[in-house]
Amino acid sequence: MALIKCHECKNQISSTAKTCPQCGAKNKPQTTTTTKIFAVLFAVIIVYWVTSAPSVPTTRTTSTTSTQTATPKPKAPPTIDEKIKKQFSAWDGSHYGLEKIIKKSMNDPDSYKHIETRYVKEDNDILVITEFSGKNAFNATVKNSIAGKFTFDGQLLEIIQ
Ligand SMILES: [Zn+2]
Repeated sequence: MALIKCHECKNQISSTAKTCPQCGAKNKPQTTTTTKIFAVLFAVIIVYWVTSAPSVPTTRTTSTTSTQTATPKPKAPPTIDEKIKKQFSAWDGSHYGLEKIIKKSMNDPDSYKHIETRYVKEDNDILVITEFSGKNAFNATVKNSIAGKFTFDGQLLEIIQ
């Protein structure tokens, strides 16, 4: 039971009293209006909640299905072996990154011919060895080999001649 001020005589009266025991004025008509407003608001909220309730599970199911279809990707990040595999050509097994470096260093990049690429998986990187042939500065086709260390993501770490 809370105490409120009578709107007429400002005396403290019980909030549950219908009339003021001091002056006989009706207990706070403002409170009743606010109570009515709250009641209406509450009813509106209930109605809104009830009417929107059936749509809530549907949105939930659609969101869960959409997250379920989206989850396989983050759930299965590429393994190290998959990352390594991506760095190599499926066609001739050459290493894309290392091949670029080789061609850049060549006198005649068009003469580049991939012979063989092998790689060694190390703790934190891979060592790629590529054998290739190409024309040298004297226009003679020569066999050469180059080795490079790459991260599992294909970033060049070091070229080992
Ligand atoms: Zn009063």
